[in-house]
Amino acid sequence: MANQADIIIVGGGVIGSSIAYHLLNDGFTGKIQVFEKDGLYEFASTPRSAGGFRQLYTTAVNMQLSKYSLQIYKNFSTDMAIDGEAAEIDFKQRGYLFLATEKMMPQFEKHLKLQHDNGINSQLLEGEKLLDIIPELNIDDLAGGLFCSESGYLDPYSVMAGYVKYAKKLGAEYIYEEVESLITEQDYVKGIRLVDGREHHAPVVVNCAGAWASILGDKAGLPLPVVPLPRQIFQFDSKEPLKNYLPLTMDPTGVYFRHEGEKFISGYAEEIEPGISFKWRRSAFEDHIWPVLANRIKNFEHVKIERGWTGLYDFNTKDHNAILGEYPAMKGYYVAFGFSGHGMQQAPAVGKCLSELIRTGKYETLDLKPLRVERFAENDLIIENAIY
Ligand SMILES: Cc1cc2nc3c(=O)[nH]c(=O)nc-3n(C[C@H](O)[C@H](O)[C@H](O)COP(=O)(O)OP(=O)(O)OC[C@H]3O[C@@H](n4cnc5c(N)ncnc54)[C@H](O)[C@@H]3O)c2cc1C
Repeated sequence: MANQADIIIVGGGVIGSSIAYHLLNDGFTGKIQVFEKDGLYEFASTPRSAGGFRQLYTTAVNMQLSKYSLQIYKNFSTDMAIDGEAAEIDFKQRGYLFLATEKMMPQFEKHLKLQHDNGINSQLLEGEKLLDIIPELNIDDLAGGLFCSESGYLDPYSVMAGYVKYAKKLGAEYIYEEVESLITEQDYVKGIRLVDGREHHAPVVVNCAGAWASILGDKAGLPLPVVPLPRQIFQFDSKEPLKNYLPLTMDPTGVYFRHEGEKFISGYAEEIEPGISFKWRRSAFEDHIWPVLANRIKNFEHVKIERGWTGLYDFNTKDHNAILGEYPAMKGYYVAFGFSGHGMQQAPAVGKCLSELIRTGKYETLDLKPLRVERFAENDLIIENAIY
């Protein structure tokens, strides 16, 4: 029956498609339907992401997620090739660098220790050592930086497209319709209802609707502390090129920047009201970003904004981390959202582990229980000190 599946996934972005791919690749033989309301992914968060991947976290669960995913991204182009065509993702291991003032250094020393305890190859660089990485850097107000050379950035759209194509090849059915609501009966999920009223039924529904996911959950009386939060990115060109390609560099002010091709992109954690808005303001670059860039790298005194865009974080207001697993007292309803700005770098591991949880009832590759839904009621939050 066309409207009966074994697993329904709401949202065919990088998270939903990674889960669909992993389920089928791991041997699930049932029928998977993925519902995606935006066939061109015009407003999805994945293609609007900065594509940074890093391992410089302070909680074991985030470090494990990133470490595992990094290994997958390294071989993504060949492992996800279809009919000999490589799944190129523009994977650049150019490093990830958090710049530090004198005051920040003791904290970064603690982060370094936690990272080393978790097998992350990070380094604390002092003063002039930073110039080996970015020769043009103004280090007058800097004492050093925390650096991980294995990290860097990639093209988020291509990763998503790789998972979508492979999931389809393995048999996932993508249906380009908007889900209006979840169908539940007592303590069980039964399926979904589309905007036009048609129903699709399945004993398992996975909510991967990103910045829209909590709206769907709220409607069914299954709330989670996640809101859509607009974040802008600006692409600019510099009159004078830099000597080296940049790592994804985070300034102490919270402004980040990296190369994008031969140009650059930059953004920052703007204080802004939550909501669904794709407004983009040039003034945010002129007033907040450019003064920081021009001070940090003299070549950036003369830059030209070429374009910009706004994407939505699925922002977890309680502890800024992903929420993963089955919803308590609603059998068959799984969630994978709340990534708050670091979902790209976790997508491979999340897909693998959710596949295990849904198929076998337990995690095998990584223990992602710390990210369970119940943590809010249990007041057992994941306090990650390296989120900006
Ligand atoms: C500006 C910006 C910068 C970022 N930078 C980074 C970074 O450097 N590194 C990093 O790791 N992460 C970053 N992120 C976060 C990362 O992009 C997200 O965590 C990740 O893309 C989330 O993927 P997703 O599949 O959950 O969401 P999405 O890509 O948004 O996919 C969800 C899909 O669900 C669909 N959908 C929603 N509601 C419905 C419905 N009712 N019915 C059917 N379909 C529906 C949507 O159309 C969408 O396609 C950034 C995000 C933004 C916005």
